[in-house]
Amino acid sequence: MPVLVMKFGGTSVATVDRIHRAAKRIGVEVAKGYDVIVIVSAMSGETNKLVGFVNDTSPLYDAREYDAVVSSGENVTAGLMALTLQEMDVPARSWQGWQVPVKTTSAHSNARIEDIPTDNIMAKFGEGMRVAVVAGFQGVSPEGRITTLGRGGSDTTAVAFAAAFGAERCDIYTDVDGVYTTDPRITSKARKLDKIAFEEMLELASLGAKVLQTRSVELAMRYKVRLRVLSSFEEQSDDAGTLVCDEEEIMESNVVAGVAYSRDEAKMTLISVADRPGIAAAIFMPLSEAGVNVDMIVQNISEEGRTDMTFSCPVDQVKRAEKAMNAAKESGSINFHDLVADEGVAKVSVVGIGMRSHTGVAAKMFQVLSNEGVNIKVITTSEIKISVLIDRKYMELAVQALHDAFELEKA
Ligand code: ADP
Ligand code: ASP
Ligand code: MG
Repeated sequence: MPVLVMKFGGTSVATVDRIHRAAKRIGVEVAKGYDVIVIVSAMSGETNKLVGFVNDTSPLYDAREYDAVVSSGENVTAGLMALTLQEMDVPARSWQGWQVPVKTTSAHSNARIEDIPTDNIMAKFGEGMRVAVVAGFQGVSPEGRITTLGRGGSDTTAVAFAAAFGAERCDIYTDVDGVYTTDPRITSKARKLDKIAFEEMLELASLGAKVLQTRSVELAMRYKVRLRVLSSFEEQSDDAGTLVCDEEEIMESNVVAGVAYSRDEAKMTLISVADRPGIAAAIFMPLSEAGVNVDMIVQNISEEGRTDMTFSCPVDQVKRAEKAMNAAKESGSINFHDLVADEGVAKVSVVGIGMRSHTGVAAKMFQVLSNEGVNIKVITTSEIKISVLIDRKYMELAVQALHDAFELEKA
């Protein structure tokens, strides 16, 4: 029988009642003749609560134990979903990551899926089970310890299962009815897209649109998974939601497809480092080893052999970054006059494959921000995106102004 993957995010399984509604939706697909693999997140708020417990217990925690704790939310919803389906006479069984097993790297708290053997679940489908409910977000390392896939990781679990089982489609049920031109919580003018190209979705996700985890889009693109985002709160037709697909499948699109933002960024500047070969490596190697996710990097003009180096990273990694830089200074591998952290910045980006063939998008973006009196602190570009770092207090204003200026409410 054809296999379908259906993923339900936190708000879609937030209560026993919601789980029941999701189960009814699953029952519809089972009745159509699909064997269904259901991926569930933890109930909404649950993972945040667990992360809070870990931080309160041990601020510089052992990531293996972090994973042991934060993976547990999904175990609850997987069992409850299987029970709910059984109550509806749908043969269902739950699976934790290690039982499948979802084999991952040992990069705890941010592991990558390496392999998903299909034999255990296929054997059960062969025996008449119709739904395998799998706890999202978790796997098992080569050492046999529980791992997690990074926040939002259940999306990646879902796409990886769709690829492994050759599923007809991977449906991501969430609390919005598709992918919008920007987060609909920021502007009511945001417009739902019927289709979006993998590459645009990849950029939007990696630039902060948390509707899909970046890695899930990467996997879908690589393994040609038909990926759809739709609402678990409304009745859905077969072509509802947003299809993430190859750009060839999209007839007409705007130059700018969407605006993304990332609220909790920090800008760090090392004042007066020696401008010599190897300085960037000497700064960014220890940051990488400390697990700091450096994003934008700017090296300023050098004067008398000294320069300033600026980089951005998530604001909750500032302490880690400071520790790594001070340790590098003490060891003598780098020398700097001061380390200044600006913890009040956000990143706003415009994304669109149309930028490959259209000029002037950057100039227009800067003009719009200037008209609003928003100062740009750092700029980065790639072929299909432009990102700026600005004061966090202007973030919403900037997103709205850019959405208006690029007329994204219009198809
Ligand atoms: P889930 O719990 O189902 O995984 P998430 O909260 O992770 O859901 O992702 C859905 C949220 O993503 C939406 O509620 C919305 O606020 C946010 N979002 C950000 N950017 C976009 C966008 N471009 N289109 C749709 N939703 C977006
Ligand atoms: N529960 C996990 C998180 O909140 C994974 C997910 O929901 O996708 O990050
Ligand atoms: Mg999510």
